[in-house]
Formats: sequence, structure tokens, C-alpha cells
Amino acid sequence: MTVWDDLVGQHRVTESLRAAAAGHGMSHAWLFTGPPGSGRSNAAVAFAAALECERGQGPEAGCGVCHACHTVLAGSHADVTMVRTEKLSIGVDEVRELVRRSALAPAGRGWQVLVVEDADRLTEQAANALLKAIEEPTPRTVWLLCAPTVEDVLPTIRSRTRLIVLATPSVEDVAAFLVRSDGVTDEVATYAARASQGHIGRARALARDDATRARRTEVVGIPARLTGIGDAMRAAARLHELATEEAEALTTAADERERTELDRAYGVVERGRRPREYGPALRDLEKSQKTRAKRRVLDVVDRSLMELVSVYRDVLAIQVAGRDDLVNADRYDELRRLADDAPAEVQLRRIDAVFEAREQMLEFNVPPLLALESLMVGLQLRSGNAAVR
Ligand SMILES: [Zn+2]
Repeated sequence: MTVWDDLVGQHRVTESLRAAAAGHGMSHAWLFTGPPGSGRSNAAVAFAAALECERGQGPEAGCGVCHACHTVLAGSHADVTMVRTEKLSIGVDEVRELVRRSALAPAGRGWQVLVVEDADRLTEQAANALLKAIEEPTPRTVWLLCAPTVEDVLPTIRSRTRLIVLATPSVEDVAAFLVRSDGVTDEVATYAARASQGHIGRARALARDDATRARRTEVVGIPARLTGIGDAMRAAARLHELATEEAEALTTAADERERTELDRAYGVVERGRRPREYGPALRDLEKSQKTRAKRRVLDVVDRSLMELVSVYRDVLAIQVAGRDDLVNADRYDELRRLADDAPAEVQLRRIDAVFEAREQMLEFNVPPLLALESLMVGLQLRSGNAAVR
């Protein structure tokens, strides 16, 4: 297993990075872009490993077995700094600290590598501080910035970086990866690859975890169940419940870990009593955890909405193009019935309605349950004949 093997469906990207690691087309600053789940930060980390690899800077770089490759992948290599954030923005202080690090000579024979996973979250001040460092690079320093699209970073930064664009991996590539990495059957792999629409992390969760699969099945089954106002209200409540459940599963472990760390930092466990500063620190932590939990619910509801859209898009595809590369190919009969039930323009209006609900929730802070209720009622009406036709 080399470090490149986990870059699913990114053959062109892998080739350019391997060439650069071998000394062809090296640059001091790189920008990795690609849709969520395409693996842009994995690509950056693989590249960092290749730059530190003990096999040297040749075609073997990124062997995946040497100590350097291992420590880079594990996030513990002395010359590779990773910036990952749960916060909505990366501030100037954090970047100044990075810039200081970037000026240091690497401890090993490789490079001083700085990976910024969410370069799109740099504040303007932070981006400007970064820009200066990129303009005057130290000889053995490499910056690896990651962002969804090039538009997400300042043009001045963009123009000084070499751009690596990751594509959405194909269903075949994702399925083959799942079979190889998780040992699932072809059938499960193909289902997960289709359903994830090229999002590797999501595909893995769907392939590995029965509960994740069951939740998705419930969500994509909603359109076929919407036949009256009662169904609509029940569907909204259930969707909200599913999102809350999943968000909780995601945050509980992190919450507990942070709480344990806080307790340790204040010596609460060892000394068995709470210092005066502990109370405010605990309140801060709980507040930020609450904010995160709320955001996670929104994220999950948002993803569920996109899953609903995938159903209506499939229905449209059947109606308009007779296509067979459907995201929800495993539910063909149900999609067919939905297609017979209402014409293409109704499906289009349904898709619009989902995007409206999303906007209500994400831009105008309408509580998710409320947005879902009015959406489901709308979708249900659109399936009624007289109301929309
Ligand atoms: Zn190696």
C-alpha cells in the first residue's frame, strides 16, 4: 500500500503529485480543490508523505511503509504541520504561528510542510499574513492549502499556488475502493458508491454501518410515502429525529473526550476538587459543544435534503432521458411509480422546494423542524393532482 492508493479515482492528480515529489514541477505553494468528500486533504497529506519519504525523492516517494510515511499519515511527523479546524474561521494569530514555523529549517532531510485543510476559512487578515509567507518562501518550505473551489481563496493567494483539482470519483472507482479497503461485497459497494454520489467518507459509512444505511433508506423512502398532510407532518418529524440521532452519534464521543481533557487540565480528577477557574472554562466548553451539536444537526438535515433531491432527480431522469445511471437504482420500481404519478415539471418544482427549505434553514435560520414541516406539506401538495397541475 503506497500513500497514493487511498486517492480514489484521482489518477491524473496522483501522476502530477508523484512527478512533483520526484522533482518535476515542484512548487512552494499548492492549492488542492475538489468537492466535499473527493479527498482533497487526503491528497495533500499523501503528497506531504511523499515529500518526507525515506525512499527519497524518486518514483518510489510515498512508499507508505517507511517510518516517515507512517508518521505523516498519522499526523505526528515533526516537519509536517496540519491545521484542521472545527471552527468557522481561522484567525490571524493561528496563521502567524504557522508562518513562524514555516521559516524553520526542517528537522529531517525532507521539507517543512504546512497543510491548511480549510483555507477557505481564513479570515482576510489571516489570508494576508499567509500571502506574505508564500511570496517570500524559505527554500525548504512547502504550503499545501485545501479548499472546495479556487473561488474560495483570495485571488492573490491563488495566483501564487500551483493548482491541483480533484474530480468527483466515479461510481466504479469508489465501489472498487470499498471492496479493497473495507472488504464489503460488490453489491454493498456499488450501492454505497452510487448513494454517496462520489463522497468517499459517506460511501465508507454507508458500506460499513447498518444504521447509516437504514437511516438513508428511510430518508429516500419519504417521497413515496407522502400522500396526505398527516404523512407530511410525520415525515418531517421523523427526518428531524433521524438527523438529531445521527448528529448525536457524531458529537457524543468528541464531547466526552473534550470534557475529560478539560478535567485533566484543571486537575479535577487527580485532586478531586474543582479550582475556581474550572467553572467558567466548563461553561465555555459546554457552550461551544452546544453550537457544534446544532451545526451538526443542520449538516445532517442538509445532507438528507440532498438525498431527497437525488430521488426527484432520478425520477426526472427516468421521465426525460430514460437514463439508467440512477443514484437510487436499488429503488427503481418506486421511482417508476413516482414518475407515473406526476409530470416532469412537478418534479422540478419539488426540487426547487427542497432548495428553498435549505435556504430557509441555512441562510435565514428557520428552525430545521419548521422548515421541514413546510417543505413536506409542499411536496405532498405537489403530488396531489389539482393543486399544482
Ligand atoms: Zn515512505
